[in-house]
Amino acid sequence: MAELVQVIVDVPTMQTNRPYTYRVPEHLERQVQPGMRVMVPFGRGSREVQGFVVAVDQPGEFDGDLKDLAGVMDLSPVLNDELLKLAGWLADQTYAFKITAFYTMLPSLLKAQTTRLVRLVDEVDEVDEQTRLALFADQDELDLAKVQTDPLALSQLMRLRRAGKVVIDYRVHDRARAKQITTITPTLSFDDYEGERLGVLKNAHAQRNLLDYLQSLAGKTVPLKQAQEESGLSAATFTTGAKRGWLKKGQAEVYRDPSGALPTSPTAPLTLNQEQAQAVKRINQATDQRTAETFLLQGVTGSGKTEVYLRAIERALANGRSALMLVPEISLTPQIVSRVRGRFGKQVAVLHSGLSNGERYDEWRRIKRGEAKVVVGARSAVFAPLDNVGLIIMDEEHESSYKQDDAPRYHARDVAKWRAAYHHAPLVLGSATPSLESRARAATGLYHRLTLLHRVNQRPLPPIQVVDMKREVQARGETNYSLPLLNLLTDRLNKGQQSILMLNRRGFSSFVMCRDCGYVPKCPNCDISLTLHMDSRSLKCHYCGHEERIPNTCPNCQGHRIRYYGTGTEKAVAELQTYLPTARIIRMDVDTTRRKGMHEKLLTKFGNHEADILLGTQMIAKGLDFPGVTLVGVLNADTGLDLPDFRSSERTFDLLAQVAGRAGRADEAGQVVIQTFNPDNYVIQLARAHDYERFFVQEMNLRKLGAYPPYYYTVRVMGSHPDEQMAARVMQAVRQELVGQLDSQTIILGPTPRAIARLKNRYYYQIVIKYRHDPALHARLTAIMEGAQQQFDRETQVMIDPDPQYFL
Ligand code: ADP
Ligand code: ZN
Repeated sequence: MAELVQVIVDVPTMQTNRPYTYRVPEHLERQVQPGMRVMVPFGRGSREVQGFVVAVDQPGEFDGDLKDLAGVMDLSPVLNDELLKLAGWLADQTYAFKITAFYTMLPSLLKAQTTRLVRLVDEVDEVDEQTRLALFADQDELDLAKVQTDPLALSQLMRLRRAGKVVIDYRVHDRARAKQITTITPTLSFDDYEGERLGVLKNAHAQRNLLDYLQSLAGKTVPLKQAQEESGLSAATFTTGAKRGWLKKGQAEVYRDPSGALPTSPTAPLTLNQEQAQAVKRINQATDQRTAETFLLQGVTGSGKTEVYLRAIERALANGRSALMLVPEISLTPQIVSRVRGRFGKQVAVLHSGLSNGERYDEWRRIKRGEAKVVVGARSAVFAPLDNVGLIIMDEEHESSYKQDDAPRYHARDVAKWRAAYHHAPLVLGSATPSLESRARAATGLYHRLTLLHRVNQRPLPPIQVVDMKREVQARGETNYSLPLLNLLTDRLNKGQQSILMLNRRGFSSFVMCRDCGYVPKCPNCDISLTLHMDSRSLKCHYCGHEERIPNTCPNCQGHRIRYYGTGTEKAVAELQTYLPTARIIRMDVDTTRRKGMHEKLLTKFGNHEADILLGTQMIAKGLDFPGVTLVGVLNADTGLDLPDFRSSERTFDLLAQVAGRAGRADEAGQVVIQTFNPDNYVIQLARAHDYERFFVQEMNLRKLGAYPPYYYTVRVMGSHPDEQMAARVMQAVRQELVGQLDSQTIILGPTPRAIARLKNRYYYQIVIKYRHDPALHARLTAIMEGAQQQFDRETQVMIDPDPQYFL
């Protein structure tokens, strides 16, 4: 009777959530654990595919027809028990496949085809010499793939791994991934070095100095670089020393330090004001009592939410537990990261999309080994392999980037809630402008609401002036800058103070158009206009990457009046420079920040007051804390308002509140100017009054009327196919399966073509379902998702998106 394991296999054409049973070959018995990746034979021809072990069964009765595991990918589990459970829940909740959920939780280095190299960690003599020789011969590393066929070696390695004596490195192709440095270790005792000295010639100064230095190390291993610096000796001298047996050279692994380049402002704890103290007290109570309570920390911009987070983290650590802090997108909020690093130092691991695969893997491993107890990261950091989580924080909880667009289509808030419940830890949702969903839950008492109504040190929120651009343009012609804004900019320039200007590019992009016939170049693959890129002088499709030259003549009418449209940041900077020739302006948008580290560089430059004006897209709206900024201008507040999406008002309000919050954060009072073509719109008016609470009430009324969240839940079902008719037919069929099967209050809209109906040569149709309480819906949708591959042809894709953030 053999040992059996349940494996979720990775076969894209055979997507299923059902585990397959395999037999564990004798040499691996009692060694394969849940959470390990394995290779298994699958399907006709039994080709080998990767899979995840989800369960190990007791030896079973029936194993006659079962195939054997082909090999193991890991010597120890890459997913622990919690994450395995979470993956099951995640797949179920988001209508995804488990295999997708597993990969989502792991650093991408573990997804790619990698070479896996095994190395000894400890001093060689801790592993008995025979074993070492048998496995490694005189090599430092061993390719795991090469020993898959050697049962004895494999089980020996697994034993060593369990004892913590070997580690595995994952390398993509031949790029060395774990960073190595050379070290030296003294080999002799103090007295033996004295003895060696006698054998060295009197005038061999370098060698004598080396002996002195080695003696002074008292057996300690140090990096060669450091040894050279401390001793003043050359690398060649150390090599000679190694030859004479005075020292041993070795390799040590160093972690790449992804946040090393960030400015670390030292952050000694601040004295909390009363509101902060109150909030910290409540959160810490929950941390101490291990209650999985959700807090909504609603604090105006500049009210010191970060300090509240830091104190709460401090308490979790003091209780011997770890803490997870989520931020919308780290590359956009480097200041927060440096504050957390400043307070907790090396205990902090940073995870975000800007890291190289190697950096990400290093950070992940530091967390898994328990070396990092605080994790700061963007969306996917919610899966950080932290143990014993004592607190989870989600800053700017209203941000839509917390929702993933691809499968698994999860919202980090839901995952955070699941993990908080699992660990009996409080969850803190922080924002100046909470999502309506969260604010509504706080209103019903589901969340505990904590408020910071005042800015720290009683600084006022900046007054906001709304400027009607219709009049400005009538009086002065096309322009990005109203007179009131220009006057204030000039004033700040004269006073040596700084300004931030935001060009809202949500909902439109720069494109070219023929002035004679109105022709706009479109992507040949997707149904959308091509975006103008001045740096490469080309037109690009933002969806599929198609790129072409800017035409000189109109392909449609052969006219010569092809012109650029849309207000790009580049154009806005150029125009501003004509008004303020001496102003030093930093432009910040996707183009100027595409290169790694540029974002931080530009912000540091602005922080050092090496520029007067920071002009950028919405990426400048978030989290920045520059004391020198006393003026904030929004060049075009309207562009997000008219999008066909029920959240467009909410997003615009959030954005205006956030960007206004960048002004007047220090001693000098701040001021904000909002330029708009809709000065009377309620969103603009309430943003001007800094009145989130009234916005909440008013917007809730509209949501109720329209049967939108948070009154109703929504699910979007999308179908795509290379043939447009087929795409429509698939979604008709999906609709038929739902109609009459659901709750009487449930509303099914569509199918309709999506706003962007064609993408990468596939057509998209969608259905939107709105419901309040519908016990049957989840099972119905799961069946549709799982059955889609059989029911329709192979080209059909059906995707289900619960609580979508966008309906475009
Ligand atoms: P928020 O995230 O709420 O917009 P921050 O956390 O960025 O606000 O805090 C705004 C500023 O106030 C920061 O410069 C921070 O260092 C400072 N600050 C926060 N709390 C205090 C305090 N208790 N005393 C003095 N300064 C504080
Ligand atoms: Zn395209």
